[in-house]
Amino acid sequence: MSEQLKSAEIDVSTIYADVSDWHVNAGGAKVTAKRMAGRFRRLKWFTMSVWLVFFLGPYLRWNGKQAVLFDIPGRQFNFFDITIYPQDIWMLSLTLLFFAILLAAVTSIAGRVFCGYFCFQTVWTDVYTFIETRLEGDTPQKAMKFKNAPLSANKISRITVKHTLWLAIALLTGVSFAAWFTDAYQLWYDYFHLQASLAAWIVLGMFTVGTYVFAGFMREQVCFWLCPYARLQGVMYDQDTVLPAYDAERGEPRGKLKKAALDSNKGSCIDCKVCVAVCPTGIDIRKGQQEGCITCGMCIDACDSIMDKTNQPRGLIRYASYKELHQKAETAPLYKRPRVLIYSSILMMALSGVGYGFATLSTTEFQVIHNREPLFVMLSDGSIQNRYTLKMLNKTPENIEVQYGINGLEGATLHGVDDSVIIESGKVVPLQVLVRVPSEQVDESLKHLTFTAEVVSNPDISVEYHSIFMGPK
Ligand code: SF4
Ligand code: SF4
Repeated sequence: MSEQLKSAEIDVSTIYADVSDWHVNAGGAKVTAKRMAGRFRRLKWFTMSVWLVFFLGPYLRWNGKQAVLFDIPGRQFNFFDITIYPQDIWMLSLTLLFFAILLAAVTSIAGRVFCGYFCFQTVWTDVYTFIETRLEGDTPQKAMKFKNAPLSANKISRITVKHTLWLAIALLTGVSFAAWFTDAYQLWYDYFHLQASLAAWIVLGMFTVGTYVFAGFMREQVCFWLCPYARLQGVMYDQDTVLPAYDAERGEPRGKLKKAALDSNKGSCIDCKVCVAVCPTGIDIRKGQQEGCITCGMCIDACDSIMDKTNQPRGLIRYASYKELHQKAETAPLYKRPRVLIYSSILMMALSGVGYGFATLSTTEFQVIHNREPLFVMLSDGSIQNRYTLKMLNKTPENIEVQYGINGLEGATLHGVDDSVIIESGKVVPLQVLVRVPSEQVDESLKHLTFTAEVVSNPDISVEYHSIFMGPK
């Protein structure tokens, strides 16, 4: 490459001055990353906005109640019109399985995009450092100058504002988390009037301290040293996984620009270290894939801007697979990658299971248990008696009135139960009942009968249960 650049097009001193004292982080120091505009930066702001659901979701009302509520004391999960009870918890398990496998599938396709764009640790850290750089300087030099400056009213007020904002976000995070588990509006009232439950205060305290310390002080240290996913991600990669990567063949041998000229004996990398400076975990992507890389693409934006300034094509750092960079082969399409196909199959199975669960979710559940001790009793008039436990679960939002009955066994009569029974919303009412049958009807040791539970106000949700009747013959 032999290309003399016009001095008006490039200011070499600015490129290098910005990050002149930057160092590569090996996980031992807190990083304040330089912020640069670019398409991946814009994408990150967009994906981060998904977290607004976390803050605003609990205030959504549906039919006069909180639309989404994990009601632990009531042992139910409310999702708009749907209420899931512990009996249907398998659907939540399948939903969790779906998201776990989705994470694995996305990682095998595009690396740790969850870390780079969605993870609460990186998102909160990004917001905290955004506040910090606005108040204390948006370049390393300005930040260092601020840090070393003598205490003044201006410095104290800036530090105070920073920590106040950090604490406000941490508190809001704590309240928002707790609000998914109780009535959100009532929770605010209870906090302000110091009437919140002990559990609500503990959640608030844990999340406030955790957010403030993790996002404000530990930052990328959490990714380096605490997060298990950073250790696991390697097993989900293959040679077709697309990751931010440095094209060493094009970039090396690297060398600093001299007098605004590109050296024909050097590669495209002008060793400006801007890619290191913008990295939220402070690593040098030019050294290859490292566990500190959260696949955020900030270094791509940074390097593209340098390529623009030096009139070189973009893409020295880009999303590319190992195959593309090192074997000059095309990345395999998704449908030809066994790992992706296996993950997709599990995803489909989990999704089908959840879909089936929602489609067949009943509003009442009726169970009849035949008591075994004794199996039957012969009464003085010769009739045979069996004992049963009836359990009716009301999953509707209202109380229901239920009338129990039996059919399918001639001469059988039901005893020990009132004409109708009121079952409160979300409750199970267990009942001990007796069934008597004249002895001449019990010509076998085992007969079949059906218990019915008719809901007076809504016969459509009435249910029945097939059971057995035991006799001596
Ligand atoms: S190396 Fe690039 S993609 Fe990886 S974390 Fe740093 S800035 Fe993000
Ligand atoms: S890879 Fe790009 S941003 Fe990084 S040092 Fe080289 S030229 Fe600069």
